[in-house]
Amino acid sequence: SSSNSLFAFETLESNVRSYSRSFPVVFRKAAGAILEDENGCEFIDFLSGASVLNYGHNDPDILNDAVEYLQSNRIIHALDMATSVKREFMEYFDEIILRPRGLTYKFQFVGPTGANAVEAALKLARKITGRHSIISFTNGYHGVSLGALAVTGNRYFRDAAGLPLAGAVFMPYDGYWGADKDTTEYLDRLLADDSSGVDLPAAIILETIQGEGGINPASKEWLQSLERICRKNGILLIVDDIQAGCGRTGEFFSFEFANISPDIVLLSKSLSGCGLPLSLLLLKPELDVWQPGEHSGTFRGNNLALVTATAALRKHWTTENLSKGVIETGRILMERLRQVAQSNQGSNLSVRGRGMMLGLDCSARELAAEIVRRAFKEGLVVERCGAEDQVIKLLPPLTIDRPTLQHGLDILEKSVHACVS
Ligand code: PMP
Repeated sequence: SSSNSLFAFETLESNVRSYSRSFPVVFRKAAGAILEDENGCEFIDFLSGASVLNYGHNDPDILNDAVEYLQSNRIIHALDMATSVKREFMEYFDEIILRPRGLTYKFQFVGPTGANAVEAALKLARKITGRHSIISFTNGYHGVSLGALAVTGNRYFRDAAGLPLAGAVFMPYDGYWGADKDTTEYLDRLLADDSSGVDLPAAIILETIQGEGGINPASKEWLQSLERICRKNGILLIVDDIQAGCGRTGEFFSFEFANISPDIVLLSKSLSGCGLPLSLLLLKPELDVWQPGEHSGTFRGNNLALVTATAALRKHWTTENLSKGVIETGRILMERLRQVAQSNQGSNLSVRGRGMMLGLDCSARELAAEIVRRAFKEGLVVERCGAEDQVIKLLPPLTIDRPTLQHGLDILEKSVHACVS
């Protein structure tokens, strides 16, 4: 029965579980922007697996390729042996994503999660430069394995590791001290001053728009000055595009708007197009100093995920339609959220973001939590992010239709009104 449907999760699954607490139902089915629970109740999904489901749940064309593949005795697992689907993915990605953007990268499949890409990138940067420290940013999020955790700017996550984690130097993210303060000038001077005692770092790792850290977009100018600092000091620039990439901001890569050219780019989440785990490091060819097998792993570039990744590129990235849709829908979202913020003036709400990666900052943790709970009861899945979990994160599937989007926004608006007054 529905009353004890979560019993197994409460008694058998570890206390570390979180989403099954935020959304206390058992989900069973999904399509597009809709999740359905065991009792047939539907929920609009504005979380999209934290940007894993940019093309919605179960895109029929992507799944069709997967089903055909599964039914024809093709390779699912082959360690990192050469397979025809891996070749097809790399050649296709190069042809329709990299070359049109004037980018040249080699592919390093790591796997299966985002944190695996972060670990490989940090290790490679240290190997290339012979330096050890990494600059990362307040409120940045890069994963929970020890290396990735070391560069994650959130005390709650880092403290779970017990020991202090070595290697990271934290800098304030763009706008952290106010939009008018340029923190890159401080960094530039610090690195130029021998007497500062600050060793040159191997790399700078950043998100161009912080996801878990509270939907904090960096400006073009800030990103460009960081790139200049990297070039001047032989520091590698690593863009973690795990959450913001694959079209979330309207561009395939979230850094395109800033006209920068990262040395290493990390992709995961929506890369496979359907929720299968797949994680990838793109590196400039001259940086490929790895010795064969020097960085290994059993699950690197799962072949089924590569099939669906290629299908996703074919369906969504051979025309401009998706990008244009994201910009257009992002505008509608932003406009509507601004109205919601303005019509609740007493409560200090504000909106920020880029493309279809938006945040409604509620200033207070409890208010955000209450709105999220209320929205869920009304049939909308949204989650919180930010240093204080005070920001409601809006990441609808990029392919969401207009009526579903409006319906979701109606629920959100109603929930905000109910909780504020
Ligand atoms: N980097 C960013 C920007 C992320 O948002 C995440 C996951 N939220 C990660 C890295 C870690 O990815 P994973 O959870 O798959 O290890």
